[in-house]
Amino acid sequence: MTASPSPSTRVPELPARLDAVVVGGGLAGLAAAATLATSGRTVVLFEQSRDLGGRGATRLRDGYAFNRGAHAFYSAGPGARVLQSLGVRPVGRAPDANGAFAVRGARTHTLPVGLVGMLTTGLLSLGGKLEAARIMAALPRLEPDAFASLPFGRFLDERVKDPAVRELVCALARVLTYTHDVAGQSTGVVITQARALEKGPVLYLDGGWQALVEQMRDVARARGVHVVTGERAARIEIDESNGGRVVGVRLADGTHVATDHVVVAASPQVTASLVRDGKDATLRGWVERAVPVRACCLDVALRSLPRPYARFALGMDRPTYLSVHSATAALAPDGGALVHTIRYLAPHESPGDEGIAELEGLLDRLQPGWRDVLVARQDLPSITVTHDAATAARGGLAGRPGPAVPHIDGLFVAGDWVGSRGHLADASLASGQDAARSVLEHLGALALAA
Ligand SMILES: Cc1cc2nc3c(=O)[nH]c(=O)nc-3n(C[C@H](O)[C@H](O)[C@H](O)COP(=O)(O)OP(=O)(O)OC[C@H]3O[C@@H](n4cnc5c(N)ncnc54)[C@H](O)[C@@H]3O)c2cc1C
Repeated sequence: MTASPSPSTRVPELPARLDAVVVGGGLAGLAAAATLATSGRTVVLFEQSRDLGGRGATRLRDGYAFNRGAHAFYSAGPGARVLQSLGVRPVGRAPDANGAFAVRGARTHTLPVGLVGMLTTGLLSLGGKLEAARIMAALPRLEPDAFASLPFGRFLDERVKDPAVRELVCALARVLTYTHDVAGQSTGVVITQARALEKGPVLYLDGGWQALVEQMRDVARARGVHVVTGERAARIEIDESNGGRVVGVRLADGTHVATDHVVVAASPQVTASLVRDGKDATLRGWVERAVPVRACCLDVALRSLPRPYARFALGMDRPTYLSVHSATAALAPDGGALVHTIRYLAPHESPGDEGIAELEGLLDRLQPGWRDVLVARQDLPSITVTHDAATAARGGLAGRPGPAVPHIDGLFVAGDWVGSRGHLADASLASGQDAARSVLEHLGALALAA
């Protein structure tokens, strides 16, 4: 958050040889570094930006805390368990189902979630309500692994008859997974998210996700991690004799940092570019196979909320979302409101201004007059939400790579495209911890061999 920026730090005096180097200071990198340091290992984390947090960062503008698009923390997901193990406590509140709407064509209906919404909505017929209630109750009770390779579209073909129910379930699955193409999404991933939600609510975090990032940074530093911001890793140095073994990291300013272990907690593209001049076949394959999930986001800070009762809306016939996060979490000054809107993007879609215009139209519909009370806005026409959708075609979460990079001894990856635990930030946190554990095992094996 700009209120308490991480000071840009130059490379400090480091031990001659570090146990591990972590590249990337988002949630994955911070989780990896803090876990390694907890086991007494010497670690340095390099983040290229001035501030930590990556896509989990928050900007403070005019007293409003802007996350990078709408962010909800799964309080019972694998990420929550990683944070608990590090002593980090996300502080926030769970949104309730009041003031939630379904937008279809020119009509706005009560969103049929919760008992009251289900009873009062005009979106579904009586038969549709029963079918919707049945499918929503069934989803979290299914075993994700058994449905990992089943496209969600086919799952719905088999279980849902009413087209209006299908639209509703797809819209809810979109919120859970962030994917536009829910038909191709792994049913196992939808079930994973639905199960996490049943075990515990999502939280909108007070002060934005930066509050989480800062707690993680403080824990990492307290345990001895050297956190260096404003410093870009340019190359992973590999000794190619004996098949390839990590020997260090070369920074953009030319500094060589010696280590036998590197965790790259960045995108698959960045990871591939850092290794063997971008020519490593395995890493290039990972880039090609990843299916990035992108969204077009418009976030607005308002002096007041024109319609305080309209807090949440989902498009039924359009892939859109609106939520007044400040109605739940501390994100805006007294009387003010912070509203997030999203248009979920298809894999190769670039709607640009058109996407933002559609979101302005959604605001006009739910919060007419918002332009008159606008304080600040954040337009993100195409932002990567997760580097990999975990599609059914790739076997869902089990189809993601890492954390170890095959054929390069000592190289590991972390991020929301890595490992088989969790989706979105859950995957980043879980794979950060898993990458650190793999480094620790490797260090243990080296010690035994010595
Ligand atoms: C609009 C939007 C909405 C979202 N909503 C949710 C949600 O509701 N729930 C949820 O769980 N998740 C959500 N997410 C996903 C979540 O934000 C991400 O999964 C998570 O923040 C990714 O963390 P990361 O550390 O893996 O990657 P990043 O945050 O991308 O961090 C990677 C870091 O590496 C740094 N880096 C890159 N290259 C180098 C280099 N060469 N040297 C040094 N540093 C480098 C980058 O600067 C960056 O800081 C959302 C994301 C977006 C964009």
